[in-house]
Amino acid sequence: MKSETRVAVIGGGVVGASVLYHLTKPGWKDVLLIERAELTSGSTWHAAGGMHTVNGDPNVAKLQQYTIELYKEIEQISGQSCGVHITGGLMLAGTRERLDWLKMAKARGRYLGMDLEIISVDEAARLFPLLDKKHFKGAMYDPIEGHVDPYGVTHAYAKSAQLGGAEIVRHTRVTDLKARSDGSWDVITDHGNVHAEYVVNAAGLWAREVGRMVGIELPILAMEHQYLITGDMPELKGKKEQLHCIDFEGELYIRQERGGMLLGTYEKAGVPWSPTETPWDFGQDLLANDLERIAPSLEVAFEHFPALADAGIRKVVNGPFTFAPDGNPLVGPIKGLKNFWVACGVMAGFSQGGGVGLALSRWLIDGDPGADIWGMDVARYGDWTTPAYTNAKVRENYSRRFSIRFPNEELQAARPLRTTPIYERLQAANAVFGDYCGLEHSLWFAPTAQSAKDEFSFHRSNDFPHIAAECDAVKNSVGLLEISNYGKFEVKGPGAADWLSQVMANRVPAVGRIALTPMLNERGKLIGDFTMCRVAPEHFLLIGTYAAESYYLRWFERHHLSPGVSIRPCAMEYVGLSIAGPNSRALLQELVRDDLSTAAFPFLSFKRMEIGMVQGYVGRVSFTGELGFEIWVTTDYQRALYDLLAGAGRKYDLRPFGGRALNCMRVEKSFGTWTREYRPIYGPFEAGLGRFVDFKKEKFIGRAAAMEEKRGGGALRLLTFKLETKDADALGDEPIWHDGKVMGWVTSGGFGHRVNHSLALGYVPAAIAGATSGFEIEIIGERHHAQPLSEAAYDAKGSRMRT
Ligand SMILES: Cc1cc2nc3c(=O)[nH]c(=O)nc-3n(C[C@H](O)[C@H](O)[C@H](O)COP(=O)(O)OP(=O)(O)OC[C@H]3O[C@@H](n4cnc5c(N)ncnc54)[C@H](O)[C@@H]3O)c2cc1C
Repeated sequence: MKSETRVAVIGGGVVGASVLYHLTKPGWKDVLLIERAELTSGSTWHAAGGMHTVNGDPNVAKLQQYTIELYKEIEQISGQSCGVHITGGLMLAGTRERLDWLKMAKARGRYLGMDLEIISVDEAARLFPLLDKKHFKGAMYDPIEGHVDPYGVTHAYAKSAQLGGAEIVRHTRVTDLKARSDGSWDVITDHGNVHAEYVVNAAGLWAREVGRMVGIELPILAMEHQYLITGDMPELKGKKEQLHCIDFEGELYIRQERGGMLLGTYEKAGVPWSPTETPWDFGQDLLANDLERIAPSLEVAFEHFPALADAGIRKVVNGPFTFAPDGNPLVGPIKGLKNFWVACGVMAGFSQGGGVGLALSRWLIDGDPGADIWGMDVARYGDWTTPAYTNAKVRENYSRRFSIRFPNEELQAARPLRTTPIYERLQAANAVFGDYCGLEHSLWFAPTAQSAKDEFSFHRSNDFPHIAAECDAVKNSVGLLEISNYGKFEVKGPGAADWLSQVMANRVPAVGRIALTPMLNERGKLIGDFTMCRVAPEHFLLIGTYAAESYYLRWFERHHLSPGVSIRPCAMEYVGLSIAGPNSRALLQELVRDDLSTAAFPFLSFKRMEIGMVQGYVGRVSFTGELGFEIWVTTDYQRALYDLLAGAGRKYDLRPFGGRALNCMRVEKSFGTWTREYRPIYGPFEAGLGRFVDFKKEKFIGRAAAMEEKRGGGALRLLTFKLETKDADALGDEPIWHDGKVMGWVTSGGFGHRVNHSLALGYVPAAIAGATSGFEIEIIGERHHAQPLSEAAYDAKGSRMRT
């Protein structure tokens, strides 16, 4: 083994081998892969090798497509067969809801260029004769599903990488990692040490243990997973290879393996493997079978595919593989550690391994992953993901792998975990809660405790009239919303204003003022949007998306440009309440001595005030688009503040409202939000945030690229559409049609209760953004007329919030 290397990749499973190959592809030759045993000695060797393109996150789906298309390339370079069998795949729907879900998946696939098709049960039975038609309502056909040989794929990546200059050492275990002061690493192994500029943890089943070597606890857990292979079946003899098939009701997947069928299940009672520590002596081993555990799925399989019942079992495989709490990979650099990267938690290595390798290598080499990979960025998790949390969420995710997640369905594992002081108050007001970063927050309020429950649906549901009433209260009097679930950062010091001016695109506000600002990367793309509040000349409160806290901190760390500035995350130190509506000022004025008139406290003002005996910051701003105030207090004051506002609000019929009503109202105002309208694939002018980019400033990150976008106009445009629908609204990710072709995608949608019609926000190519007709949006398989609006649907001039 060499003693110096630019990159040390730890782990020779399919993911590590792909990372290594993708580092050599643009010409990095000085890269080394260290494998404890033989290549594939973790999860990889016993995988079923199935691959498919469909994923709940369209950006991850794109990388899955890339992975499948890559196999030809690595076969050609390496001369090693990947054993690719493209059989085509069926996803079977046993219920009407599942068929709706498939229609939505197909629609989403449209703008990703996927060739998916909804077919009848008869057609499904023609393609997959083993199924018993009476259990199904329809299916989705994907022509590029199939399976590969896990050994072949891993070795094809590895050989291709070696041909590109990489070195691979086997039978060498990394036992420790020591950081040097310049950010490089001493990689300690049982066969000598190597000094590496970068380390990539691709240690799969042991990624958690390798993480612990550098003091981090990665949110991953291995689950036992079983599949069986039947004896040879006469039904398959002399026939073309059977399709890959997913039967959601049985929680199983099935494909042909030689003369029999391979059948795997994601059973409800999944069992974690080695929940605290993965043994180092585990190698190409299998776990003891437990057919009892998968018996309920097998019973369904024998009913749905009757020929299986007589086929007998030739072999059972039980092996572990790792999951993150949401089932998507963990990729990227780790905040707080220089030059330490991860590529782990990859539960579908043969669909995702290529995309993970591509994203990581681009990111490491060019400083940017080159695609929107938020869905697999390791920074989407924060400090709340303890091992016990991960354990609960991974078990839930495993058990629901083939379950429908309805748009209004909140998952229940690991809850309630984090609550604010007013949790019981909101509960008493019949709040229906959602979970965001492990924190409970109210979604809507029901009239009684018994009715405080969502009825899951793709259509409008039981919350609809209550959200309407909440929006009505905000429009006509005043509503109260908890806003604790935002990320907050305190930025202080003599260099604070300077630093913010360079990191944010908008100008830094004066003391007592708020500025809304995008944050851009060097390519001029949106990587955040913040409310920047100036408390004092050298003291700011930054408010942004809580889920992106680690993402932002990682960026701030890399761009700590000015001396004399401290940045401190303080999300849970400051909790908040917002009041919004035409009576919000009168209400608050009863409780504060400060003059709240527009003359004294205009829109976008920010001030420390005493609200009764409560001390806090008051900002004159509201995401609802109404006259409104956001009040931030330390947790010890929140209950008193709530009681104060609730008491004074009685005479104004103050009504609590939740996140769902807020979403409806921000869509009416065409206000975008991070992870929906604002993502690193859009520029500020495309997203309609151009007015918040201050070119009067000589220097800020992304200035040149943003200027270019301004001049050229950008490739995309965010539009607001008025939709003609009956009982379902757009949710996000639906295709936007124009003149009979899919041209764009929806980012958010909802019913605008204040304007009494359905709305959607979405991106289309700039070239058609000026068209006034010809648009349609597809919702649950049906296309609906969509009228682009030239301005926000509600109070486009913004006079209500400025009044
Ligand atoms: C039964 C079963 C069926 C599956 N079916 C499918 C399927 O059909 N389709 C699909 O896409 N996926 C499937 N999977 C999942 C798939 O196996 C994983 O997604 C994939 O193997 C993950 O690869 P990896 O490289 O991240 O991890 P691993 O395969 O675990 O590789 C990690 C490697 O790192 C090495 N290593 C760890 N620590 C060190 C160290 N300290 N020093 C040196 N080396 C180290 C290990 O020896 C190992 O070789 C299945 C898994 C199982 C168990």
